[in-house]
Amino acid sequence: MKELSKITESFSESVIREMTRVCDAAGGYNLSQGFPDFESPKEIKEAAIAAIHKEYNQYPVTFGEPELREAIAKKAARYNGIQCDPDTEITVTCGSTEAMIATLKAIINPGDEIIVFEPFYENYGPDGILSGATPRYVTLNAPDWSFSLEELEKAFNKKTKAIIINTPNNPTGKVFSREELQQIAALCVQWDTYAITDEIYEHILYEGEHISLATLPGMKERTVTINSISKTYSVTGWRVGWAIADKKITQRIRKVHDFLTVGAPTPFQHAASVALAFPNEYYETLRAHYQKARAFLVGLLREAGFKCAPPEGAYYIIADTSTLMAELDVDNDFSFSSKLIEVTGVATVPGSSFYSIPSKGRNQVRFCFCKKWETLFAVEKAFKKYFKEIGKY
Ligand code: GLN
Repeated sequence: MKELSKITESFSESVIREMTRVCDAAGGYNLSQGFPDFESPKEIKEAAIAAIHKEYNQYPVTFGEPELREAIAKKAARYNGIQCDPDTEITVTCGSTEAMIATLKAIINPGDEIIVFEPFYENYGPDGILSGATPRYVTLNAPDWSFSLEELEKAFNKKTKAIIINTPNNPTGKVFSREELQQIAALCVQWDTYAITDEIYEHILYEGEHISLATLPGMKERTVTINSISKTYSVTGWRVGWAIADKKITQRIRKVHDFLTVGAPTPFQHAASVALAFPNEYYETLRAHYQKARAFLVGLLREAGFKCAPPEGAYYIIADTSTLMAELDVDNDFSFSSKLIEVTGVATVPGSSFYSIPSKGRNQVRFCFCKKWETLFAVEKAFKKYFKEIGKY
């Protein structure tokens, strides 16, 4: 048989999603892939069921049902301070995952470079490869995940087509400050670079404020703002996301989107438009739960001997495993992760999944805490049992 594509040879399937399969096979506690195990809000589920009964069961408008685009535009104006035209500047996609790759496909030419902060959300690696962009990485330095302005300046050049920003950030929990975003914006303007911001954790924020890069001077026409209902409304399986961008960029994104997926599920788009009008109280309750879960898991991990800092946003914790490697008789992030699930039933994501050079994540694993108390307490019990046996606690 003839050789398959060279491009798809150069990356592997997602480790994050593989860890869910490993966890399910072991009957473990899934603190690996970031999705909630508690019930999704009743109102959004009822809205989806109602939409199905109302016969919203056929193809949607390719780039998004008008009702949802209206709701997104209103929410973007109210919450993010982004004014956009729902008819020409919004594309509804199958999750933010599709929004990101469709955007890259829409703007990248061979030889173009993209800047990515590292550690990064796993998808951005293959996204870059599939779109043909050459990535340049700028380090987010533990423990506060700050970056060096000098390093960022050096990453920009004539070939820089876009920079990807994810705030609040997965996996570090970093919330980019206004000053940092201003530095990024100034460089984007100076080098005539697009910015693609993944803001799906905008409501899951414990410190600082969420700022949409598109609202900074000179950025609206060059920024693609990506979001989704997955994390905010705990419906990660519904696959409804979107990209907000200037009309010219949107025209290109819509073409890619149309031929990739035709459209995101119609009934869930209608349910999404209901959810986007939830009262403030909904977001406050969500945030309050995650804030408590964050404190709980950080405490538990520190007691067990991991080194970690409370994330400023999102629902992940990068934990340093250096001091536990010998005790677990392992020597890298993959063997640590396997051993941990074997001895405690707790699934994590090996740190190397978030780096261009795997060795950089050798002493790290990522935990997520978007779980109900029952799960978190079961993790506590399993951890205390095992770590007591090896002399911790
Ligand atoms: N964002 C989630 C994570 O990092 C996973 C999203 C996905 O699997 N599509 O765990």
